[in-house]
Amino acid sequence: MIELFVTPGEKLAEVEEFMPSDGAYESEGIVYASSIGVPKYDEMEHEVRVESPKRIPRFNVVNSIVYGRITQTFDQYAVVELFPYNTRRFRLIPPSKYATIHVSNVRKGFVENVRNEFGVGDWIRAKIVGIQKRRFVQLSTEGANYGIIKAYCSVCRRPLSRRGAVLYCPRCKREYRRKITMDYGQPKLPR
Ligand SMILES: [Zn+2]
Repeated sequence: MIELFVTPGEKLAEVEEFMPSDGAYESEGIVYASSIGVPKYDEMEHEVRVESPKRIPRFNVVNSIVYGRITQTFDQYAVVELFPYNTRRFRLIPPSKYATIHVSNVRKGFVENVRNEFGVGDWIRAKIVGIQKRRFVQLSTEGANYGIIKAYCSVCRRPLSRRGAVLYCPRCKREYRRKITMDYGQPKLPR
């Protein structure tokens, strides 16, 4: 099961069901997240808290290449679940389970909305560009080597084929302009 991130202001529960604990607050009977993280519902105590990712070291992480899958998209950023990757020589272990790509780090030039660039379920290759507050890994997909390596149709979930610079669903006859890598479709994976 994919654990979904919540962001501040997102509704978590009605106060009759769950009282706000760490990382949550109540307003007019509704419980909202006050921090970014994964909501944890305690059925016994009738409490909900938002668990922030564990602190991660700052060193030796920036500029690393990571692989992951888009789990959520928003106007301003996308949430990525990162995966370890086995090569013949070593194992790439991401520094955290989740990372985000901000709208300013998607590609060179202006990007209006992250939802136009990535779809939920797409596989990506990205580079770590920073860590905020020692917890939140920030990724970039700027450059030809970074972006989506495999994408799916938002309507029928089939893998999308590449047609020049755009992606295409042969079934729905729809075109998508997402941020893909140069090697989309036949990605060169580390060995
Ligand atoms: Zn389709």
